[in-house]
Amino acid sequence: MTDSQAPSTTAAASAARAGTNPVAAAPAGARTAADVVTPEVIARLTRGVVGSGRTASHAPFTGGRLAELPESTPEDVETAFARARAAQPAWAATPVATRATVLLRFHDLVLRRQTEILDLVQLETGKARLHAHEEVQGVAVTARHYGRQAAAYLRPKRHTGVVPVLTKVTELRQPRGVIGQITPWNYPLALSVGDALPAFVSGNAVVMKPDTETALTALWARELLIEAGLPAEVFQVVIGDGPVVGPEVVARADYVSFTGSTRTGRDVAQRAAARLIGVSLELGGKNPMLVLADADVEKAAAGAVRACFSSAGQLCISIERLYVHESVADAFVERFAARTRAMRLGASLAYGADMGCLAGERQLETVVRHVDEAVEKGATLVAGGVARPDIGPHFYEPTILDHVQEPMAVCTQETFGPVVSLYRFTDEEDAVAAANATPYGLNASVWTKDARRGRAVAARLRAGTVNINEGYAPAYGSVRSPMGGMKDSGLGRRHGSEGILRYTEAQTVAHQRLIPLAPSFGMDDEKYTAFMSRALQAMKTFRLR
Ligand code: NAD
Repeated sequence: MTDSQAPSTTAAASAARAGTNPVAAAPAGARTAADVVTPEVIARLTRGVVGSGRTASHAPFTGGRLAELPESTPEDVETAFARARAAQPAWAATPVATRATVLLRFHDLVLRRQTEILDLVQLETGKARLHAHEEVQGVAVTARHYGRQAAAYLRPKRHTGVVPVLTKVTELRQPRGVIGQITPWNYPLALSVGDALPAFVSGNAVVMKPDTETALTALWARELLIEAGLPAEVFQVVIGDGPVVGPEVVARADYVSFTGSTRTGRDVAQRAAARLIGVSLELGGKNPMLVLADADVEKAAAGAVRACFSSAGQLCISIERLYVHESVADAFVERFAARTRAMRLGASLAYGADMGCLAGERQLETVVRHVDEAVEKGATLVAGGVARPDIGPHFYEPTILDHVQEPMAVCTQETFGPVVSLYRFTDEEDAVAAANATPYGLNASVWTKDARRGRAVAARLRAGTVNINEGYAPAYGSVRSPMGGMKDSGLGRRHGSEGILRYTEAQTVAHQRLIPLAPSFGMDDEKYTAFMSRALQAMKTFRLR
């Protein structure tokens, strides 16, 4: 069966199952989309978009239209780049301390006005409010880190020259110019402006193409950054179909920061390669969790719920494969299943729901197809496996599958939904090998009471981030350290020094003093080369690096 064909028994298989997850009721007086996304708000937020066409976004909770938005033509993208390019030199000439202050003010504004953005993120993505708050936290941590640390990352560095004392060397970090940023819908705040902050603080302008369905969130962040002191022209937003507007952005950018699927990432990389511009790619995953024999089963079960079902599993670093040691498997599965079945699903702009819904019809179709095909081929449902149209058109219960094996799609392909497969193991080496047996390498999780053992297993996992005794949040949230994917999960890293230096060009300035690097003082070539050979030998003897 190919990936695009739905199994013929899909409808019957789904219909035979009954939903069990409770519904989180909306509190009295809870805000609705009409209260939040008013015509005035849309007009205010879209004022800065260069777009002469029209398009629209939709609300996953209801399936209805959320906002009418401007759509950018190729000419509009050209205009956006021209404006960004014109504004960038003055911004780059602004002292780094001033640029950093913008990030620190933005940090405060996001925390202070979080109700607005939590509503918007929920309405645009369908995620639970608790999961929307992860984005607020992620952006705040990133803004604080680069706000406080950018000057140190970007500071000119002195190096010992080829001839110590005589050659003085300084490494400078120059902004690249205009960064093209293409972002997905699943974490529309953290993955849009979160990755733009280090670009701005290092002196670049940004032309961002958010996913149309979550453009208002990116535009809200732009408004706040401008309020925090960013010159408006330095941050341009274009909106439109990915395959149409995305290549227009790549065609004009000095560097591209892309977050999205591996398939699109390859296309972006090829276009960037043709132009010889740099690109960082944050792509898909099929992330494993290993529950070792000595794990705290209760904590691992609670952690697995967070790791698998946050944002309804539409998180590049969420867990889709669970490897459990045989000796604790029954106890773990019992607890994990009980917690999963008890998760409250809900669609209100308030705390209380443990999970929201999928982002749209396409995501729901993939989830239904993966689960139904697995069940049809012999997998068993431990929890979930059923859509919940009684709550909203894109709700699907958190789902645990057992007895999954190849060639079921759920085994190897990224589902990007609330679906996890269980596998039992007896030998730790086999579990590590199975966890690594995927083209992806984004995130992994290891549960054990023995920290040293956890670190040893982590070092053998081919994943850009590994979390011990948690699913994904500690590694993602620790922004001093790089985050990104190995293998087909990406190229380059966000966060830490790599996350900011990618937006700069290294420039080495060498100042040769007193004597040239050439025969001098009447030396002929032979004397000079002999002298240099002795000098090189001495430098090694004196342990010069
Ligand atoms: P996608 O690749 O379809 O779209 C991502 C962005 O690229 C969108 O803005 C889209 O409009 C644009 N786009 C689409 N076609 C394009 C093209 N031909 N050229 C240029 N741009 C184009 O991905 P998606 O479905 O929106 O996002 C989900 C995927 O993103 C999942 O695979 C997920 O794992 C991955 N993801 C990765 C990370 C990470 O940090 N590694 C984070 C979030 C999501």
